[in-house]
Amino acid sequence: MSLKTPSQSIAKFRPPSAAVIEQFTAIVGPAHALTDPDAQQPFLQELRGQFVGKTALVLRPGTVVEVCQIMALAHTHNIAVVPQSGNTGLVGGQIPYETGAEIVLSLARLNKVRALDGAGNVMICEAGVTLQDAQNAAQQAGRLFALSLPSRGSCCIGGNLATNAGGINVLSYGNARAQVLGLEVVLADGRLWNGLRALKKDNTGYDLKDLFIGSEGTLGIITAATLKLVAQPKEQATALVALDDLGKVLPFFTNLQDSAGPALTAFELMARRCLDFVTAHGADMHDPFDAPHPWTVLIELSGLSDDGAAAQHLERALAQAFELDLIKDAAFATSPRQSAALWALRESISELQKPEGGSIKHDISVPISAIATFITRANKLVETLCPGARPVPFGHFGDGNIHYNISQPKTMEKDAFMAMRDDISDAVHELVVELGGSISAEHGIGRLKRRQLPSVKSDVEMDMMRAIKQALDPSGILNPGKLL
Ligand code: FAD
Ligand code: ZN
Repeated sequence: MSLKTPSQSIAKFRPPSAAVIEQFTAIVGPAHALTDPDAQQPFLQELRGQFVGKTALVLRPGTVVEVCQIMALAHTHNIAVVPQSGNTGLVGGQIPYETGAEIVLSLARLNKVRALDGAGNVMICEAGVTLQDAQNAAQQAGRLFALSLPSRGSCCIGGNLATNAGGINVLSYGNARAQVLGLEVVLADGRLWNGLRALKKDNTGYDLKDLFIGSEGTLGIITAATLKLVAQPKEQATALVALDDLGKVLPFFTNLQDSAGPALTAFELMARRCLDFVTAHGADMHDPFDAPHPWTVLIELSGLSDDGAAAQHLERALAQAFELDLIKDAAFATSPRQSAALWALRESISELQKPEGGSIKHDISVPISAIATFITRANKLVETLCPGARPVPFGHFGDGNIHYNISQPKTMEKDAFMAMRDDISDAVHELVVELGGSISAEHGIGRLKRRQLPSVKSDVEMDMMRAIKQALDPSGILNPGKLL
């Protein structure tokens, strides 16, 4: 099935009539009901340009009451709704189909931090608060909001929770789900569920918030969340470490985790090609090592005191790893600027891979003991299916999560390479399943991986998910043709 084929669940919907558009417009006001294609354009296209949608209407409500009214009207007239927050999603979930039948509901104007209790370690953020703004608000109160993704300047809390985002801090703080105490959600029929509790312990039945986290806009509209805050690290020690053998990454990781425990807050693996691409295409990007190394790992240790203990610990641990012949070299950041420069190498990989042409991307996880096997076998598979294609694996090693991106062969046409996407991805995903892994570690299913979902879930799992969807959205108006 091509990515552009409208799914059956979308085929039953029709665009709103002019009269219904007028009623939607009356809810948010004409300035926030976009019908002009130019004004709609930023909401209809995602960053990778794989999905370009169509709609009669983009609605930008400014209050939760307006969201309730929009959903009640959509429910009455059987209008399909695509929720969108920051539009940084990587699986097409936030983009309507090309049929033009759905309306887009942007939560971007719900952008208030409603409350922040530093001593109580909680804050309440609306769905359209950017992750960066949420982090800043916590920081100003002397606390840390631990979720962190390279897209932090644009992605928003609503999207982060709807996708159960992961990112660079999962190793010691957990993914988005782990940062949530309560949710406020508008249901498919327009009713409001106020579940903004700030309780760590609450065993009063099914955990409803966990249904909506990771539901990718298919079960309800998240309008606000009670988020957990934690102690702010007083110092962070960062180093880029070079290894000559992929097989040594796991013993090195285990060794470091044994000595640092939860102080090890990042352990990000990068294949050689990542550094080649970012240093070739990025301004001010430098490989800190004199000689090229096949593998590098970006490490961060966080400390709760500012006495230099984190840096000393990291130096000792790396010296020991060197003696054990696990690592070949290490570059320590001695200032926040140097640390930012090392992080920039890691965080710009996706962006600076673009000049190398077409890229087929995978966001997989396997048990961490299987990462080396996965990368080695996947590289061989790719070489067999498309000789000359260039794998660019990198990611959150400590979480077993590898972004297995593949750049096109230098001499091939981009379209010819991208036409191989289904064949290559199916082979990579088959290997992932064989190794006991997941075909979506953090980006979700959306539209991109919907076709594969039934082949990696059991019938029982698919039945349970469909039953939940049926219970919360019986008309199927919430993000049809996504996820399920
Ligand atoms: P959107 O793109 O607007 O929406 C994503 C999904 O959530 C869609 O299905 C949408 O319908 C649904 N949705 C959005 N808002 C709501 C709402 N209020 N209620 C209900 N459903 C809603 N992701 C990671 O997990 N880890 C990473 O490390 C990471 N790195 C990234 C780096 C870059 C450079 C980029 C561009 C993206 C990266 N992402 C990463 C992907 C993306 O940023 C995350 O998925 C993010 O959580 C999406 O948030 P958003 O606000 O942009 O959501
Ligand atoms: Zn990631």
